[in-house]
Amino acid sequence: MVARRDRALGALTGLALGDALGMPTQSLSRQRILERYGALTWFVDAPDENEISRGTAAGRVTDDTDQALILGRLLVEGAGRVDPRRLADELLSWEARMVDQGSADLLGPSTRRALQLLAQGAPAGTTGRWGDTNGAAMRVTPVGIVYPPDPIDRLVDAVADVNRVTHDTTVANAGAAAVAAAVSAGIDGAAPAEAIALGIDAARLGSTRGHFVPGADVAARIEWACELVSSSRDPLEVIYRLVGTGLATQEAVPAAFAVVSVYSDDTFQACLAAASLGGDCDTVAAMAGAISGACHGFAALPGNAVATLNAANPALGIDPLAERLLELRDHLGAAS
Ligand SMILES: [Mg+2]
Repeated sequence: MVARRDRALGALTGLALGDALGMPTQSLSRQRILERYGALTWFVDAPDENEISRGTAAGRVTDDTDQALILGRLLVEGAGRVDPRRLADELLSWEARMVDQGSADLLGPSTRRALQLLAQGAPAGTTGRWGDTNGAAMRVTPVGIVYPPDPIDRLVDAVADVNRVTHDTTVANAGAAAVAAAVSAGIDGAAPAEAIALGIDAARLGSTRGHFVPGADVAARIEWACELVSSSRDPLEVIYRLVGTGLATQEAVPAAFAVVSVYSDDTFQACLAAASLGGDCDTVAAMAGAISGACHGFAALPGNAVATLNAANPALGIDPLAERLLELRDHLGAAS
């Protein structure tokens, strides 16, 4: 029986592993990744041809992990709620640090637009009006650690709440609710299949929160994607070509769930597969790693991979954060 603490740690570490594995391959085409690496089997340096991550050493994480950890610390600070101003400030100072380091991996389109509007004095509650890309889902894992899957409404409301400043839309809320609920179910001991099922329910509910934006139904697409890969001989090709691995929430989130359903018994293999997909594959791998890591726990991750991750990113602080997020979960559990 895997302890809950081990699963919370598994979620955040799985997220970081997927992100770091996908760092060098993000934004490349699947064909280019296959030509260059075949299937990824380990962390690699970013190649010069990668316009986003060139110059980054093997094992380094990207915005996915950084922003998830920022959100996690703010959840601790706000005892389960995130002050939108604080989130905006933290994201802007994170980006300033990235610019200082010469990184080209900066804020995504929804977050950038929202923070610009905020800086221009747009009223609270309007800045996330059009935010529909996958940034909300990529950083939402800590919300899934804090909020138990039951009652599901409370978890989905908490997701919509943290999304409001940048991703206040039906599509982004659906995608982020799916990831948070699947992580949360994993922490309570769900196997991947159950976590996926709960993620689909939460996506359906999430799509009733926020401003309407057009886009395919995230819940239906997760369900469809998992079904599609179950009978495929080349599931990764199917995910890349049909499900899609773009920035769109309705592509990246179903892609991550489909990877979890195919590599259902091994988090590290799920991360490697997702990182080999191409497209926004650091984010797809981060989400798949978080969900799978929550289900299988930290102890199931290969020790040498975790050691490489920690050596490349000495200041992540995942351990104490997981602990504090679980304390909040206990507190909420006791209050419900
Ligand atoms: Mg990234």
